[in-house]
Amino acid sequence: MKKLSAAMLSMVLAGSMLLTGCGGNNTNAQAGADTGAAEGGTLRMGTNAAFPPYEFMDENNQVAGIDAEIAAAIADKLGMELQITDMAFDSLIPALQSDTIDIVLAGMTVTEERAESVDFTDSYSTGVQVIIVPEGSPITTPDDLAGKTIGVQSGTTGDIYCTGDYGQENVKQFENGAMAVAALANGQVDCVVIDNEPAKAFVAANEGLVILDTEYITEDYAAAVNKGNTELLDKVNAAMAALKEDGTIDAIVGKYITAA
Ligand code: GLN
Repeated sequence: MKKLSAAMLSMVLAGSMLLTGCGGNNTNAQAGADTGAAEGGTLRMGTNAAFPPYEFMDENNQVAGIDAEIAAAIADKLGMELQITDMAFDSLIPALQSDTIDIVLAGMTVTEERAESVDFTDSYSTGVQVIIVPEGSPITTPDDLAGKTIGVQSGTTGDIYCTGDYGQENVKQFENGAMAVAALANGQVDCVVIDNEPAKAFVAANEGLVILDTEYITEDYAAAVNKGNTELLDKVNAAMAALKEDGTIDAIVGKYITAA
């Protein structure tokens, strides 16, 4: 892992960062192959870098985190150069479909509905939808969410499930998880439903909020490619299998997430 970070850092120092400046998207090229040569071409990854520890902006304004490192390891295996673009979570699938990006790694949950428009790789991690409330909240279980104002990140499974279970009128959508949590801290919503790992990061950064000790839904995270792009799907699955086998994926996850 040291090698990866050093490689990323040297790319930053080499001034490889690229800002597109359009549509608020932020693209950065990161080390893929050690040679720096892109014989295998460029792997254009899309993500939403407001989902720590899977993806976040580091102090150099580069996308860092579990997904960025896994993607860098995959690109390395495939001899490709990795380029990461940050965008809204609900723009990711459209970006795949319009061939703006080749792959999504964004803590994206495998769902049947999404699988109608994209092809998912094998899963590389799991997530749990949890409920964040202010300390002392009357909400103590998912049943208590009925009739409450629930903050979610637009287009995520938390949004989809809460809208289905508790009604659109009770769900307030935010552009990202941090904004949903800020609204909770300000009393604009009664709770936030979001994935457990970002929830931990957001609660750690905000006084007076707690994660309920009750799981809402458990999910599998996978990378996604455009529907029918079996060539890339097969290559990524093969690279991922090798990276699971040799312990690379566990090591990357373990660097950011310590077992509870
Ligand atoms: N796992 C959730 C989903 O796929 C949230 C992902 C995210 O916000 N990056 O909808």
